[in-house]
Amino acid sequence: MKVEVIAIGDELLIGQTINTNAAWIGQEMSNRGYRVNRSLIIADEPTAIISALDHLLPDTNCVIITGGLGPTKDDLTKHTLARYFESPLEIHPQTLSQIERFFASRNRPMLEANIQQAALPSKAKILKNRMGTAAGMWFEKNNVIFISLPGVPYEMKTIMTEEAFPLLEQRYSGATLYHKTMHTQGIGESFLAEMIADWEDRVRKLDLGLAYLPSPGLVKLRLSSYTGKENEALIDQFFLELENRIPEYFFGYDHITLEEALGQQLLAKKASIGTVESCTAGLLAQHIASISGASAYYQGALLTYSNDLKIKIAQVNPSTLELHGAVSEEVAKEMAANGRSLLGVDYCLSTTGVAGPTGGSLDKPVGLVWVGLSGPNGTIAKKFQFGDNRQRNLEMTVLGAMNWLRYYLLVQA
Ligand code: ATP
Repeated sequence: MKVEVIAIGDELLIGQTINTNAAWIGQEMSNRGYRVNRSLIIADEPTAIISALDHLLPDTNCVIITGGLGPTKDDLTKHTLARYFESPLEIHPQTLSQIERFFASRNRPMLEANIQQAALPSKAKILKNRMGTAAGMWFEKNNVIFISLPGVPYEMKTIMTEEAFPLLEQRYSGATLYHKTMHTQGIGESFLAEMIADWEDRVRKLDLGLAYLPSPGLVKLRLSSYTGKENEALIDQFFLELENRIPEYFFGYDHITLEEALGQQLLAKKASIGTVESCTAGLLAQHIASISGASAYYQGALLTYSNDLKIKIAQVNPSTLELHGAVSEEVAKEMAANGRSLLGVDYCLSTTGVAGPTGGSLDKPVGLVWVGLSGPNGTIAKKFQFGDNRQRNLEMTVLGAMNWLRYYLLVQA
């Protein structure tokens, strides 16, 4: 089934509200094996609604319309759809009694506008709204299903889940779309694309979809099959080839996070870990400990933001700080090595960097970060050069540090 999503709302167009409805519908459709081909945002205007309905993609089977249904928008969508589908409004008794119950249970008086919400297009199948007063509507025209839903996200989700999806599943069995997502960290989208260009060529020759999905510090690669699980083994084989080619970047599939991937490595090694943090000021600790069960390996952190505390708490030698400065390979290594023994852990990560946007110099520009790693086989440090966005630099440091240790544990096997 091919789906289009039309979100109605001036607030969406001006960026006041984020179109989370489209994101949720996209995910839920795709989980059920349906394909969303297009997602539009349009103004609260009958002409915009009619124009969108008149210009669907040729192979669309189902259109989900959200927004503009409640009394605050004068039921604009409902009136427009009633005209468009030549379906005059009539009071829908079940909806009216449901609205009456809704107000009675909240001890609130009913207004005329609420009664009018029970006036619904006579030809529409009515989709019950357990969470509010604007019912959903299901129309059909020229073999296309049109589902109109309120914009309020929890009302939209309830109607989709309880009413619309069961009906759609009776009509269209899903499972035509299957996909698997590979996660990578530490390589930009274009570098990755260049590195695996020959692999990509081979994928594109088959009837498989390939998408690069980048976010700061991470790139997801998604392979899709439009003939369901029939291509599962082929997709596994393509990904296995990449796993072997880029083990320093690859950390897992589908719903796994980098924190979980690192946690799994530490559990497999029965190893404990601690952190000594300067620029990240606890952010690394927070990420590592965000996983349920992290206490099996994570021992804790030393937070040594100032030079004074690097000396007092992490026992960094004052002359190392004097000679090389706080943001240096030497200091990162001392922080990690001392942290390892002070915290009594198998592995210790340290961070020290110029998070920015101020505080950079010629030899230590904004975005320069050193990460130290100390383990049973010694202490090393890795240099990262990020950009000038403070928050992003901190997050990239955390991701870079976690992925480095994950890979280190993998190759130390
Ligand atoms: P009413 O508010 O009159 O009951 P409605 O339920 O159809 O009408 P809208 O008026 O369009 O929906 O929006 C109601 C609320 O839902 C607003 O807070 C709006 O910002 C939010 N909303 C609408 N569309 C979306 C969307 N696509 N994604 C996320 N939130 C949305």
